[in-house]
Amino acid sequence: MHWYRKTTEQALAELQVTPEGLSASEAQARLQQYGPNRLQEEEKISLPRLALHQFTSPLITILLVAAVVTFVLREWADTAVIAAVVLLNALIGFVQELRAEQSVRALKGLLVARARVIREGREQEISASELVPGDLVLLASGARVPADLRLLQTIELRIDEAILTGESLPAEKHSQTLEQDNLIAGDQTNMAFMGTAVVNGRARGLVVGTGNHSLLGSIAGDVRAIGTTKAPIQEKIERFAHTIGLLVLGACAALFFIGIALGGSAREMFMIAVAAAVATIPEGLPIVVTIALAVGVGRMARHNAIIRKLPAVETLGSTTVICSDKTGTLTRNEMTVTCLHDGQRFYEVSGSGYIPEGQIIDDAIPLLANEREELARLLRIGLLCNESELYRASDGDWHVDGDPTEGALIVAALKGGLHSEIEREQWPRQALIPFESERGYMASLHRHGDGGVIFVKGAPERVLPMCELDSAERDRLLQVAADIAARGLRVLAMASKAVAADHNELPQEALQSGLQLAGLQGMIDPARSEVIDAISGCHDAGIRVLMITGDHAITARAIAAELGIIADRDAPVITGQQLEEMNDEELYARVAQVNVYARVAPEHKLRITRQLAERGEIVAMTGDGVNDAPALKSAHIGIAMGKTGTDVAKEASDMVLTDDNFASIFAAVREGRVVFDNLRKVTFFLIPTGVAALFSIIITMLLGLPIPYVPAQLLWINLVTNGLQDVAMAFEPGERGILCRPPRDRREGLMSRLLIRRTFLVGGLIAAGVVLIYVQALKNGASLECARTQAVTTMVFFQFFQAWNSRSETASIAHIPFFSNPFLFIALLAASLAQLAVLYVPGLQWLFQTEPLALTAWLKILLVASSVVLVVEIDKWLQRRHQPPAHCQYE
Ligand code: ATP
Repeated sequence: MHWYRKTTEQALAELQVTPEGLSASEAQARLQQYGPNRLQEEEKISLPRLALHQFTSPLITILLVAAVVTFVLREWADTAVIAAVVLLNALIGFVQELRAEQSVRALKGLLVARARVIREGREQEISASELVPGDLVLLASGARVPADLRLLQTIELRIDEAILTGESLPAEKHSQTLEQDNLIAGDQTNMAFMGTAVVNGRARGLVVGTGNHSLLGSIAGDVRAIGTTKAPIQEKIERFAHTIGLLVLGACAALFFIGIALGGSAREMFMIAVAAAVATIPEGLPIVVTIALAVGVGRMARHNAIIRKLPAVETLGSTTVICSDKTGTLTRNEMTVTCLHDGQRFYEVSGSGYIPEGQIIDDAIPLLANEREELARLLRIGLLCNESELYRASDGDWHVDGDPTEGALIVAALKGGLHSEIEREQWPRQALIPFESERGYMASLHRHGDGGVIFVKGAPERVLPMCELDSAERDRLLQVAADIAARGLRVLAMASKAVAADHNELPQEALQSGLQLAGLQGMIDPARSEVIDAISGCHDAGIRVLMITGDHAITARAIAAELGIIADRDAPVITGQQLEEMNDEELYARVAQVNVYARVAPEHKLRITRQLAERGEIVAMTGDGVNDAPALKSAHIGIAMGKTGTDVAKEASDMVLTDDNFASIFAAVREGRVVFDNLRKVTFFLIPTGVAALFSIIITMLLGLPIPYVPAQLLWINLVTNGLQDVAMAFEPGERGILCRPPRDRREGLMSRLLIRRTFLVGGLIAAGVVLIYVQALKNGASLECARTQAVTTMVFFQFFQAWNSRSETASIAHIPFFSNPFLFIALLAASLAQLAVLYVPGLQWLFQTEPLALTAWLKILLVASSVVLVVEIDKWLQRRHQPPAHCQYE
C-alpha cells in the first residue's frame, strides 16, 4: 500500500518510530542499511577530457605542426625540444586546471544541505545526507524538502512542486489519510517530496524515501545539476588571448616572409617564426585567470563568504552598493528584552544575553510577575505565544532553538519568575498561526481551566488596530512604542482574547477585533562591533551601504545612525508603505539618497534593487527568506545567510555567508578587487615580455644579424618565465590602499591606458637591452653560441625583474614586502636554478646550444636587466605625482 493511504499511526508503526524520533544508534544502523540520502554522485572531473583540453589551444597546434616539420627536416634536437615543451606545457596546464577545478568543487561541498530532525526526543540539525527512513523532519517556509515525507502534522503548509509536477501554483498540503489509489505525485496531498520547496507554513513529516529511493531519485538524471558557468572575465580574457594570438600569428607570418626576402633560408625562417609565435602568445593567461579566480574563491571562503557562482568573484570587486538586512547581518541577532510597558507603567529588565538571570524593575524596586496581574499577562503571552525553545547546552551556555526574538521573550518571562513547564501545562496550546514577516504577528489558541484564550504578539502597528482601544489611547500607545523604538529597540505588542472552551480552530477572522492589549516589550539587538568598521571601510572604498529591514522605521533609523549608515538621526527613511505609494520614477529618484528602508516586504527589495541597477549601480543584496529569492536573483550579487537563510534563498544566491555577518561581505569585496588587480598584474607581466621577444627578433633582422636566439631557447624562455611566475602572480596578496579607491568601472577592461603605455615602454626597453648585450658580445668577438646564450640569459633576467615591477601599478617595489608573496619568491628561485642548469649542465647545453658565461658577462647582464626596474620606477613615480594614491583607514 502507498504511504499516502496509510494513517500516520500506521506509517509510524511500520517504520518503527516513536514521537521521540530515532535513537542515534538506530539512525546509524539505518544509514548503513539504506545508504546516504543523496542523489547520484556529482559528475566526476574527467581526467582524460582535462588532458585532451590541454592540446586544443592554437599555440599547441602550431607547436605540433612545428614538431612534424622539424621531424621531416631531421632536426632531431629541435623536435625533441618542441615535444618536451608541448608535453611539459600540457602537464603544467593539466595540473593547474585540475587544482583550480578541485578547489572550486571542494568549496561547493562546504555548502551541504541541512535538515531539522527530531532524534532522541530533541530537535537537532543534521546534514541532509544523513537522513534515513523513519526520521522525523521539521519543515518551515523556505526549506527544501530533504527527503520524501509522509506528513504527520501541518500548519498552513504550501509546497512548490514545480520541479516534479511542472505546476506553478504551490500545492496545499495536509496530514489526513487519502482513500484513492494510484494517485500521481501532484495529488498526493499528504506527502512532501524531496527537492520541492516549502513556500509557506510549518510541518512535521516522516521520512519514507531517501536518496535514489525518493521520487526525485527515481526520475532519471539529476534535475538540479548546476552547470559551472564561466565568469565573464574568463571569457573576456580568452577572447583577449585569442586576439593577441592571431595578431602574433600574423606578425610571425610576416616575419617568415620578410626573413626569406632578406635572404634567410625557408627552413631557418620557419623555425624562427614558430619560436617567435610561441614566445609571444600569452597562452598562460586563460589558465592564470582560472587560478586567480580560484585563489579568490578560497580566500573569500576563509572570510566566511562561500562563492556559489564564479562570476561573483569578479563582480564583487566592482560592487558600488550593498543592501543589507539589519537583523543578524548588521546586528548580532541576540535579542534581550530591556523594557516593558503594561499599558500604564514602564518596567526595566536587567541582565544580558539569553542567561535567564536578571530582574524586572519598577521604579528601582524588583518585582515578580505574580505580584502584578498585568505584568504576568504581558510576560505570559510572550512565553506561550512562542515557537522557540530556550535550553542550556552541555557547555553551560544558554541557547535559543528558533527565533531570537522569541528567545528574548522567554528569557524575560523567566526573569519575571514564570516557569515554562507550569505555564505550558496550565495553558496547553491547541492551535497556532505562525509568525511570517508579511503578516507581522503570530497568534496561538490555548485552553485554560474551563475556557480558552487567544494570545497574539507582533508589530505594534499590526496588533494595536486589532485591540479594543479608543483612538486616543491607540495613538498614545503607538507613541509609546515609537519612543521605545527611538532607543534602537525592537518593539512587540502583546494582546489576548477570551474564547469559549470548545473553540478548537484559530481562524484569522477571530483575531481582527476584540483583543485586549497586554502591553509592549522592547528588546535590544546589539550592533556587531566589527560592522561599524566595515561600514566606514565601505564608505572609504566608495561603496554605499543601505539598510533594508522588516523592523520599525524608528528602530531602523536609530541603529543605522549608530552604525554610521546615516550621518544623523534626521536622515530620511522610506517605509514599505511609502514604497507602495511610489511609482518607479519616484523610487528611481529617491534611491539615490535614502539609505534606510524599514518595514519593507521582500517584494520591495526587488523594486529597490531594480531602481538601483537602473541608476547604473552594481548591487549586492542580502536575504534569507523564501520570498527574498527574486531580489537575490535580480541583484548583481545575491547574498544569502548561511545560518538563518532558507534553502531557497541560498539556491537563488551567488554567495552565502557562513557567519551571516556584514563584515564578511566587505572582506569579500576586498578579495574581489584583489583578484582583478592580480589579473592585471599577470597581464602586465606576460604581454610586455612577449612583445619584447618579437621586437628583439625584428630588430636584429633589420640590423642584418642572425637572430639572437635559437628556437629551442625561445621555447625555453617561454616555459621558464610563463609557467612559473605568472601562476605565482595569481597569489599576490593585494596592495595597500586597495580599499581606498572607488569601485572599478565594470566596463573597464584588463588593459588600461597606463598598462598599454607601459607595455610598449617595457617591451621596447627589454628588446633594446637584449639586442645591446647580443651585439656587443658579437662585436667583442664572442662566438654566435656565446652571444646567444648571453641574449637568452638577459631576457630571462629581464623577466625576473619585470615580475617584481608587475606587483604594483603605482607603488614602488621598495614599498612592497619582499616575501609577502612566497609563491613568487619560490617561482623565481626555481626559474633561476633552471636557467643555471641550462647554462651549465652538459646535456642541456647541447640541447639548448648554450655555453657557460664568464663573470663579467654575468655582471653586464644583471646590470642591463635591472634597468627595467629603474625605468618602471620612474614611470610609477610620474604616475603617482600625476595622481596621488588615496589614503584611508584601510591601508
Ligand atoms: P531584517 O529584515 O532586518 O532582518 P527582520 O526580518 O527580523 O528584520 P521581521 O522578522 O520581518 O524583520 O520582523 C518585523 C517585525 O515583526 C518586528 O519588528 C517585530 O515587531 C515583529 N516580529 C518579529 N519577530 C516576531 C515573532 N516571532 N512573533 C511576532 N512578531 C514578530
